[in-house]
Formats: sequence, structure tokens, C-alpha cells
Amino acid sequence: MCYAIPGKIVELKGKIAVIDYFGEHKNALNEFVNAQVGDYVYAQGGILVDKIDEDDAIPILSFWKDRFAELKKIDNKISKIETSKPKNEFEEIIQKAQQGNLLQKQEALTLLKTNEPEKLKLLYKTANSLRQKNLENACCVHGIIEFSNYCRNNCTYCGIRSDNKELKRYKMSPDEIVEAAVHAVKELGFKALVLQSGEDTSYTTKDLVAIIKKIKQQCGVLLSMSVGQRSQNCYKEMYDAGARGVLLRFETSNQELYKKFHKGPKANFQERIDLLKYLNKLGYIIATGSIIGFPNQTEEDILNDILLTKSLNAEMYSFGPLIPHPQTPLKNTELSDIDTILKVLAVSRFIDPNSKILVTTALETLDKDSGKQRGLLAGANSLMINVTPSRFRKQYTLYPGRPDRDKEITKNIEETLKLLYSLGRAPTDLGI
Ligand code: SF4
Repeated sequence: MCYAIPGKIVELKGKIAVIDYFGEHKNALNEFVNAQVGDYVYAQGGILVDKIDEDDAIPILSFWKDRFAELKKIDNKISKIETSKPKNEFEEIIQKAQQGNLLQKQEALTLLKTNEPEKLKLLYKTANSLRQKNLENACCVHGIIEFSNYCRNNCTYCGIRSDNKELKRYKMSPDEIVEAAVHAVKELGFKALVLQSGEDTSYTTKDLVAIIKKIKQQCGVLLSMSVGQRSQNCYKEMYDAGARGVLLRFETSNQELYKKFHKGPKANFQERIDLLKYLNKLGYIIATGSIIGFPNQTEEDILNDILLTKSLNAEMYSFGPLIPHPQTPLKNTELSDIDTILKVLAVSRFIDPNSKILVTTALETLDKDSGKQRGLLAGANSLMINVTPSRFRKQYTLYPGRPDRDKEITKNIEETLKLLYSLGRAPTDLGI
């Protein structure tokens, strides 16, 4: 099974390839594969990552053809909303967002402060309908490999902080990382992978570059790096080696909160923001966002997080709840409820209607049975599946209770696909 559907290039406009997916056209950067009109290709994150022979593409496309139309119908049905004359200020704001108008700060705040169940229902439904209107039923599914749980930093909520002496540490060797990545692409069908670790500088720039090159030599995949605050030079070399995405959250836009809860040699808010700006200029696809639920964090802070994410030109919004690890100073912090996070996803959709919004595994942890589904129905359209080899996965405990900790990768994939199909979502590229 594959998490991307191939498409056919119908036009080239300079570096942009126009790809046809059953009559729907999406643009992608013609990088890496030197594709021509008529070629069948896979795209991820708006970048061509692989070519596929016509003989191999045709059976995949015929498998998808009717299913794709069927999924669209399901999605259209689920995301349809009836419009009626607004009866109060809340409904006026919702209608404004639904019509594609930009919300004022105060209006977005009103939405974030809402707690009435009926209003929340309307908020999520409207965000989902806006997602469908702007991006249809495409949903990107990344695999994530957590290759080391060593970290030089000491953030006060994180289970892999350097002061947590009770944690059993691991680091995958470069060969193990390459092997896991190639397996995820060739055997499990992923076309987009995130390589994540704590800030473990025992992997030098040279090591990371070699890992990226080896993976890219063996398979076509969009590689995103989530390795923390490395030097600009390190990120430049990783880009030149073929990495195209970065997952680096700024954690909170409130500098006071940042300072209070993030400790360590590289825990510096402004440097983090400057790095994100540099990476965007370099051409990386940026995934960023924040943690929701810090003590004393306000709705204004959260709104500023969403606005900062947008101003950083993020391609993907990543917001997850604070789930403090029991072996950290924040262990007694009260957990956010899931609606707090769903509201952030929905308001993000209103603020940036064309964005990719991730259902984080931390969100799934808050509601193991239906967190993924609730996120996808509140405006989100991106998922990650943990493909770290199981012998390491249990030790990557940023927070407790992760639902993917003990789950077989194939079972997780199977359940995720089942969910996507039940919601009418298809793994086509979201394009640029
Ligand atoms: S939050 Fe990130 S930087 Fe901070 S200790 Fe955890 S892994 Fe390290």
C-alpha cells in the first residue's frame, strides 16, 4: 500500500510540473527526477520525488480511479454545511471565515475562547468544510523515524531532557537509519519521511549529510529533518544533500514562557526564529508551530502562535498539547482538554485556509480512540505514522502514553488508512 498516488505530468511551466490526478491538477517543483510531459511521477509536499514506469503506474491508477471518485463523494458529504442567517456574533464570525474572509484578531480570539459544545461543533465543521473547499480530499501521510533520544537540552516538560537519568538512551547507527528509511519507502510505501532526534550532536553534519545522500540514492522520497537548532551551515549542507523539509517548532511565541520552560545550550527563542527564517529562504518546506498548555499561557499567546506560524511561511502547522513527562519539573501540570487543541486547528484553518495542518501524535494521545479522526474533522489534513523500528520506539518518550508506542507499524498503517477512507480522504499530494 502506498501513501501517495502517482500522477501524470501534463504540462511543464519552467521548474513547475502540472500533474494530473484523475482530472484534478496540482503543481509541483520539478526537482530531483528531471521529469518530462507524459511521465508518471510521485509528488510530496509540492516536490517531485520519484518517477514511476507507465507499466507500473497504470495498475495503481486503475486501483485508485473509482476509489478516488468514491472518496471524494464521501468527503463532500461529510464536509457539507448548511448556511443560514447568523443568529449571534459567534455565527457571524464563522460565516465570515466560511466565505474566505480574513478574521480580525479579536474575532479569532472569540473563537479560541469558545467553550459551548454547540458552538464548538459549528467551529470544527466549518473548518473542515473550508479545508475541503480549498484543498479537497488530499491528505499527506508522512512516516517518522526517531533515530536518537539523546538531547543536549533540558526543557522542563520533555521526557528526553538531558537531566532525565532514568531514561534508557539509544541512538541508531547511520546504517540502521538508512535501512529503516529505505524499508519505509520500499516496503511500507511512504513517499515522505521525517528523520527526528533530540538535539544529539554526536551525529555530525557529515554524518547527517551521508545519511541523507544514502537514502536519496536508494529511493525517491521527500526527506524532512527534525534535528533541532543546528548551524545554518549544517542545514545548508543537508539541503544540498537532498533534504527538503524541516520540522522545527518554535514551541511558544511568548518569549517569557519560552525562557521559563526551555533550558539548555540551544534554548534561545530569537535564534530559533532566525534559523526558521533562514531555512525558509534556503528553500526548505517549513513545518512549525507550538505547544499548547504551558502554565499561564493565554488564548492571546495561542493566537500569536498561529500568526507567527503563518508569518514564518510555514507549509505545515504543527500544534500539540503539552503532555508533561512524569520525570520532569512540569510533571504536575494539568493536561489541556482535546477541544483546546481542536480549536487551534480550526482557527489555523481560518487564518491560513491553504495550509497543511498536522494531527500530532500528542493530540492522538489525548484521545487514543478518536483523536486522529477529531483532528481531521476540525480542519487538519496531514498525519504522521511512526515507522521507527520497535526496539527503539519505546524509548522515545517525549511524553507518556503515546498510542503508537507498542503498536505494530503495519497495524498502525492499516488503521490509519481505514480511517482516511472512512472520511473520504485520499493520499494525493497537496501541491504548491
Ligand atoms: S523539547 Fe526538544 S530540545 Fe527540549 S529537551 Fe526535548 S527533545 Fe530536547
